[in-house]
Amino acid sequence: MSTNRRDFIKYVVAGSIAARCPVDLSLLAAETAPRPEVDGEDNRICHQVRDGKIFTLPPATARHDIVIVGGGVSGLTAAYLLQSHDFLLLEKEPHWGGNAYLMEHDGSAFATGSAFLTKSEPAAFNFAKEIGLEPLPVQDRDATIIQGEWIPNTWTDGLDRLPYPPTVREGFKKFKKEILAIDVVNRGKELDNVPFSNFLKGYPVEVKQWWDNYGPSNWGATSENTAARLAIDELQDIGSDTVPDFYTWPGGLGAMSKRLAEILLPKFADRMQAGATTVAVVPGKKEVQVTYMQGAELKTVAVKAVIMATPKFITRRIVQGLPEKQSDAMHQIRYIPYPVVNLIFDKPVFNKSYDTWCPGNTFTDFIVADWVVRNQPGYQQKYNILTCYAPMKEEDRGYLLTEGSTRKIAANVLRDFQKLFPGSNVDPVEVHIYRRGHALYMSTPGLYTTIQPLAREPMDRVFFANTDSEGPESTTNKGIVAARRAVKEAEHRLAGKPALKHAGVAG
Ligand SMILES: Cc1cc2nc3c(=O)[nH]c(=O)nc-3n(C[C@H](O)[C@H](O)[C@H](O)COP(=O)(O)OP(=O)(O)OC[C@H]3O[C@@H](n4cnc5c(N)ncnc54)[C@H](O)[C@@H]3O)c2cc1C
Repeated sequence: MSTNRRDFIKYVVAGSIAARCPVDLSLLAAETAPRPEVDGEDNRICHQVRDGKIFTLPPATARHDIVIVGGGVSGLTAAYLLQSHDFLLLEKEPHWGGNAYLMEHDGSAFATGSAFLTKSEPAAFNFAKEIGLEPLPVQDRDATIIQGEWIPNTWTDGLDRLPYPPTVREGFKKFKKEILAIDVVNRGKELDNVPFSNFLKGYPVEVKQWWDNYGPSNWGATSENTAARLAIDELQDIGSDTVPDFYTWPGGLGAMSKRLAEILLPKFADRMQAGATTVAVVPGKKEVQVTYMQGAELKTVAVKAVIMATPKFITRRIVQGLPEKQSDAMHQIRYIPYPVVNLIFDKPVFNKSYDTWCPGNTFTDFIVADWVVRNQPGYQQKYNILTCYAPMKEEDRGYLLTEGSTRKIAANVLRDFQKLFPGSNVDPVEVHIYRRGHALYMSTPGLYTTIQPLAREPMDRVFFANTDSEGPESTTNKGIVAARRAVKEAEHRLAGKPALKHAGVAG
């Protein structure tokens, strides 16, 4: 391939930094100052909220039963469940879906975030069916590419094929055996409070490397920052004799947000406001005042209840009167920056496994966008779109603030992919990068059993949805679980009853 050809590859930078605001601009390298322009996005409002600006809140000009703040899958689900009420849904981005948002290239869908769900996540699996989306089975185990070699079924028969010395392969097998023997149910709380790295001691370094690649992609954290319970559970699942029950659609779980928006918009277009950034939620005795910025205008609505479906690092800055302990709990939830790079090829490059792990590269793994439809009768793959996950460390967040450094991340992902295996050195027709500054919360020790229960405690008229209310891991399923619980709590209050305390609904 000539350098010229490579120069012509089209790089598209999309997505939101401000949606994940507040971003700490001090993380920016000196040469990027003054404040960069980010892709048509307006960071002003969120940064002003972060910086403690006191907005002059106008008096209420409208009334509703309930406001839902945040139009990700959790907020959309809440709106779906509240159709019989007079709701108003406010979303700061110009589109719906948050982290579960799909995009298309010439009619072919690809994920910019959330990829798949499992059948054992009933809240999402059954809800998908309810909204008319039949989940399509993945029927594949995760593979790994190491030293150019593709190893299918990594944690089952793949362990015998890892291109490592025999002692290292034996180390992988011993590790698996010992982890599978752990009683997670009875030791749940204890295991939630210790780091997974404790369990990796004494094994070959390659085992830790594998998990330090897997964890950031799935739950935002390397083994030192991962609650052991979650990772042990995970290996017990992916290492078992049964093929994991993964399901998805082309473009991943963004298909669910898309469907929800398609159901709701024709009926409630006037009560679903995109491009509307909430800046203040002020609870009073009889009502809550919610102020949002739309265009250049600040508007206030008075409502009987509010569901906050925004991530907690934003929520705690917007909701006034949060008890200190609850605000502190929200503050303890950490989030990683997480760009997703889609390599769009106009010829088949890789279709061998759905999710393939690639330790030692600038991306952790990649999925095949149309995997679940590729064998359907009459289907012809027009584009082979590979979605590469490139989770970053918290301290590197600033790199996503400028288009130049974001494009560099995409170029590095392409460079590593083209060296990954024989046959991967192919030019894509387009490289698409979607950036999110605070995409995935980290499943740190103690988060699930100590921090999240406090963070989701209802206030008198303010209730907390969003996946980061639930845990142990950021999933679409838990966004839906959180929405169901918050809706139940809100409906109870709308019926004139006192606020429920921890009314949790199983998911
Ligand atoms: C790269 C990636 C891969 C993932 N893969 C999977 C997967 O395979 N399976 C899985 O189950 N989960 C996966 N997840 C996690 C999953 O995407 C999330 O858990 C889920 O989408 C969260 O939905 P949510 O509605 O709770 O939150 P969000 O998606 O964060 O939605 C919050 C919404 O609030 C909006 N908002 C923020 N501030 C304001 C404001 N001030 N005013 C108004 N609106 C505001 C945001 O723009 C956003 O739309 C992945 C996540 C990422 C980032």
